[in-house]
Amino acid sequence: MRRRIGYVLAVVALVLGGAVVTGVMTPSIAAADECYTWNRVLQRGMSGSDVRELQIRVAGWVASGENLAIDGEYGPATEAAVKRFQSGYGLTPDGVAGTQTFNKIYELQDADCTPIHFDHSEFNYNCGARNYEGGKVPAATARENMRRVMWQLEALRHKLGDRPLVVTSGFRSVSCNASVGGSSTSLHMYGQAADLGLSSGPSQCQMWNGGKSAGFEELLGPGYPGHNDHVHVGNKASRFWSAPNC
Ligand SMILES: [Zn+2]
Repeated sequence: MRRRIGYVLAVVALVLGGAVVTGVMTPSIAAADECYTWNRVLQRGMSGSDVRELQIRVAGWVASGENLAIDGEYGPATEAAVKRFQSGYGLTPDGVAGTQTFNKIYELQDADCTPIHFDHSEFNYNCGARNYEGGKVPAATARENMRRVMWQLEALRHKLGDRPLVVTSGFRSVSCNASVGGSSTSLHMYGQAADLGLSSGPSQCQMWNGGKSAGFEELLGPGYPGHNDHVHVGNKASRFWSAPNC
């Protein structure tokens, strides 16, 4: 919201100044839709890259145990996720992605297409390398996988009362993963997982339980070996949820 107000003030200032000059706005006050703009209303039965971009934004609004396919096809699962997103933000839950839905998404996204409460810098520490290099997939793939995780976390954050989720680990290269004692099959090496620390607003069990309906098929929490000081959330094809103390 602060960002949008800043943008409006910048425009007003330019207009009052009597001249519209392009290229003077800094990235911090850029239009919220600088990242991506949808040019048509989307609904069930449609397909395309614009559907895919929508699916990434609503991937955290699934039913418990569901993992939304990011396939560019606006099917029943996408429609249901859009309805939950709309309900979650107080919009009319009609399952059709039009102006209201896109405007809400524009409010929620930064210029680099990450959600407003999360940033790549929180996920690419990578043992100090500050990049997505050296994992099990190309860096661009890891970065894109991480963006999807961020949108799921944005949904989780909102559903848990808009309290901060503190990321203690995101992407890890193969060597970084080994050095911190990660599993040899860790999703962190694919950019498909994140760890949420104890300084987060919600409790460990709130985050672990909430992750079930945020599209995470891998959820590890208190009582699972090595997970008493964080909750691990990840995207994978088969489900593995464990937190004996929740
Ligand atoms: Zn983890």
